[in-house]
Amino acid sequence: MTDIRTLPLDSAQPKLPDPAFAPVTPSLDSLTGLLDREGCVRAVEELMRHVRDPKHPVAVFWLNIDRFKQINDSLGHLAGDSVLAELANRLALASGNQGRLARMGGDEFVLVVDNCDRATAEHIARDLLATMSHSLDVGNMRLYPSVSIGIALSLAQENARELLERADTTQLEAKRYGGAQFRFAGEDLQPGRLGKLLAREELEVEEALHVALENGGLTLNYQPILRVADNSLEAIEALMRCNCEGTMIPPGRFIPVAEKTGLIVRLGEWTLLTGARFVAHMLETGRRVKLAVNVSRAQLTAPKFTQALYAALACSNCPPELLELEITESLFMDNSDIVQRNIHAALDAGFPLAIDDFGTGYSCLASLKDLPAKKLKLDRAFIVDLPHNSRSFAIARAIVHLALDLDMTVVAEGVETAEQYQILEEMGATAIQGYYLARPMAENSLDDWLAQRGAAQ
Ligand code: C2E
Ligand code: CA
Ligand code: CA
Repeated sequence: MTDIRTLPLDSAQPKLPDPAFAPVTPSLDSLTGLLDREGCVRAVEELMRHVRDPKHPVAVFWLNIDRFKQINDSLGHLAGDSVLAELANRLALASGNQGRLARMGGDEFVLVVDNCDRATAEHIARDLLATMSHSLDVGNMRLYPSVSIGIALSLAQENARELLERADTTQLEAKRYGGAQFRFAGEDLQPGRLGKLLAREELEVEEALHVALENGGLTLNYQPILRVADNSLEAIEALMRCNCEGTMIPPGRFIPVAEKTGLIVRLGEWTLLTGARFVAHMLETGRRVKLAVNVSRAQLTAPKFTQALYAALACSNCPPELLELEITESLFMDNSDIVQRNIHAALDAGFPLAIDDFGTGYSCLASLKDLPAKKLKLDRAFIVDLPHNSRSFAIARAIVHLALDLDMTVVAEGVETAEQYQILEEMGATAIQGYYLARPMAENSLDDWLAQRGAAQ
């Protein structure tokens, strides 16, 4: 076996199965030299155009490496890249000269074979499973990779993207059933329609995130949080925005995709660094503000989280006490070793912690006393139907009182009206965040907002 540790990544690039079959201007993936996503769609379109007999359809094999995220997180991205290059090599060898190969991003590959009936496809899939599962040495670790494969055979009435989506959805199914196996897609277009549209939207969002990360389409918006007692600034929350070629994608759409694809770790590192620079810049202009940044599950389960924290400090001159980490209640309750180690490393480094979205995580109220956070953010779900919902009122009041008794700072999220503000003030909430006081805004608008307040006070 080739020792990939000693290979520069370039030399680990596999050959295209057959250059003669490649499209005129193939769109290639830079790591593996295989077709990229767009190149793949074009290749499938081209092969589908030549199908004359439905008994000899185009077969799409969508491969996803099982537990690749674990490899990447524990061994680092460079090692992850060489694993991908090696597996791409194997794929090229296993498929011989039949078909076209593509990397669809991350750890997903596609093999497209024309004139391929079900029996042939099954044969190819078994070969692929066997070849991909040979052990692989990375550093002093021996890995036993496996793949999940979704196979779709082209139908007369579908287009290339639909065919690819059927294979992709089926790959997920193979993964759900435990991985290291292949499955054939059903042939019904109708019932899966919604799922397919969703899969396509996710692919688009994922692509937009990659582009934004590379071309600077990410920004932070800033939403002030004000103390009830004297209207002073308790903190500012940093909220990520993704601008893809002029279109703003809201976090409700891109955060779930980023979490699913593991991209959230890079986005989170970007937020930490950008946030830390913002704080340092504010300090330079004479403003000492605390910035709250959201930390996701994938970040807290990554061994490199502490490194990312230190990197943000080192690259910015931001004091850790001015960078507050917002972590959801359920993550605080996660007893896995790595999460608890990361949480305590952050505390030891001097970062304040806040429990985000409190009240939605179904944990026992009594567990509050064990959490190492000094701040609790009461979720908007309890505020939104105040003052009319007496149950929300009772729960919000109980949480606020308990947290205050435990000496915590209590922030109410999503306060939109004067009436809600007054109720929370009466309950004793320490600080308020919401459209009633200020919306999230771009950095220059925040400067104006702060300047106006300065003038008014
Ligand atoms: P979150 O942490 O609960 O952030 C507060 C959300 O409530 C923000 O939504 C904010 O714009 C919105 N909000 C604030 N005041 C009001 C109000 O009065 N009424 C209503 N209806 N909404 C209000 P946004 O910016 O859309 O962010 C949504 C979620 O995306 C955030 O919820 C957070 O979980 C996630 N997110 C945003 N930026 C980041 C980030 O940098 N990293 C991570 N991991 N997650 C982020
Ligand atoms: Ca938050
Ligand atoms: Ca929140």
